[in-house]
Amino acid sequence: MIVHKTLKRLAAASLAITLVGGAVPANIGAFDLSRSTSVVASAESEISISNATVTMKAHSAKVQSVELNGTKLQKDIDYTVSYSQTDSDGKITEFSAPPKQTGNYKAVITGIGDYQGVITRSFDIVGSGYDGISIIDAGQGLHTPSNEHLFLIFDKKQNTKWCSRVINSGVYANRDSDWLLFEADTPFAIHNYVLTTANDTSRYPGRNWKSWRIYGSNSEAAADYTPSYTEHKVTDIDEDIWSLVNQVTDDTVLQPVNYTEFAYAVPHNRIKYKYYLLILDDIVDTTDNIQQMSEIEFNAALPVSVTHVDAVPADCLNAGNIEHWYDEYNDKYYLDEEAQNEVDEEDVIIPASGHSYGRPEWKYDAKNHTATATFKCENCEDVQTVDATITSKTTSPTYVKEGKKVYTAAVKLNGKTYTTNKTVILDKLTYTPPTITCLKGDGAVKLQWTDVKGAEKYAVAGFISGKWRILDQGEGTSYVLKNLLAGKEYKVCVATKLNGEWFTDPSNAIVVTPKLKPLKDNPAVTYAKGNNAVKLSWDAVDGAEKYAVAGFINGRWKILAEGIGTSYVLKDLKAGYQYKVAVSAMFNGKWNTDLSNAITVTPK
Ligand SMILES: [Zn+2]
Repeated sequence: MIVHKTLKRLAAASLAITLVGGAVPANIGAFDLSRSTSVVASAESEISISNATVTMKAHSAKVQSVELNGTKLQKDIDYTVSYSQTDSDGKITEFSAPPKQTGNYKAVITGIGDYQGVITRSFDIVGSGYDGISIIDAGQGLHTPSNEHLFLIFDKKQNTKWCSRVINSGVYANRDSDWLLFEADTPFAIHNYVLTTANDTSRYPGRNWKSWRIYGSNSEAAADYTPSYTEHKVTDIDEDIWSLVNQVTDDTVLQPVNYTEFAYAVPHNRIKYKYYLLILDDIVDTTDNIQQMSEIEFNAALPVSVTHVDAVPADCLNAGNIEHWYDEYNDKYYLDEEAQNEVDEEDVIIPASGHSYGRPEWKYDAKNHTATATFKCENCEDVQTVDATITSKTTSPTYVKEGKKVYTAAVKLNGKTYTTNKTVILDKLTYTPPTITCLKGDGAVKLQWTDVKGAEKYAVAGFISGKWRILDQGEGTSYVLKNLLAGKEYKVCVATKLNGEWFTDPSNAIVVTPKLKPLKDNPAVTYAKGNNAVKLSWDAVDGAEKYAVAGFINGRWKILAEGIGTSYVLKDLKAGYQYKVAVSAMFNGKWNTDLSNAITVTPK
């Protein structure tokens, strides 16, 4: 906590309110110091704000800043602001909110927190001759007398004027341009304004306005407007705050006459603003150092004055209008030159039609990952190409049916969604028959095969008598073929049932055969004699498939008979003759040719 021990009484010089645009004129902002001088610190541990520099607009209740020894104090932390007004009887009225009525007030700045003491500053709410319009601030020459003060331009009296002058600066071009900042209680749009020349404009035509600008704003920051000058001209208008409403350059309307009204139109202007800023860039004779204007009135009730407006067809982007007559001073529309038939603006405007896009032209990339839709306006050259979002839905192919992938591209243009589909056919699945292997068994083989994806069933087929025949079917991938003859070859294949249909591709066929049986000796043969006959008998040989009776005839063995029995009768033999015979057993389909069991028989 800083302790100030040497608190001085306020000197009048330290109270000069900083006024942008010039010092306070004689009758405005004559600050009442009576309360300030009574401020004395009451607590040594707090800092008195009595030496603070207070910045206010000339005619605004707003305290822009309170600065003490280079520190900017914070409103409602370091100080509060209230207002008071003293009437002619000395009665004081207090206000907590900034006053708006025309009159002289005091801003009461009271130290709080680390600060104490009170400073007051006097200010005027100028108001105007117009309800709800009050001047906040202005820049005007140093030597403007009170009877020619800025607010007189708003007082509805032609015989008073705003006449700002700078005696010592010489010409207007060499002094900072005048400006006027005012506030409307109710925002309004300017349709016209009327300037009224002053009492002696014909004598001093150079004082007439030549170039000026009017800006509007609804930003509260507009109330704090402070001009910056470059070579005495107002520059650096903050476009975030201010919008240009009207500009007149090298005016040719105002004439060097006294007490005469000249109207200016601001056609088609509908934007309502609360704050307006008028900047006077130049006067007719820049070698004069005085500007003057008796009155400015906004939205004056001017007589109807219509201008013919040709019909303009609308197109895609630009609105058109029907033929009509427009009163730019009053922003009114008529269907006749006599201005009898007034209509609304919307009745004469033909809205822009907007582009007419038909179905777009779609273009997919090679992989269908991206697509664009190109829209062409039917009525103009406009072309819009929009990137699409793509979704897809796949129906998988099967072994019996093609699948498909349907791509849906969608774009949105002007709130409308357009879609298109593109279908890509997916080929049927290709059937590859399983690969078959086999294991040999005794009189059997075990077939095994590779699994086929999606197989519902398998069938084992055998190639029998020149035709494939299904031998059996099931769900596994192996099968035992039984009752096979050793030494015999069997051609088999496996078919697959997929998606309800049998797929038979015998290219996977293999030839199988069971294990070979061990060869055994031919049986020993006995015989019994008969009349011209011999009965041969032998014991069964384990595993023999059949037997053959062979006779040695003319030096060669010849099969005489074959069968599965174990005896055989040789008939029609000649009595007393010797016959050499043998029995051969068959294994694995082949005769055992070792006929060392041959015997010689002789019938009766
Ligand atoms: Zn178009």
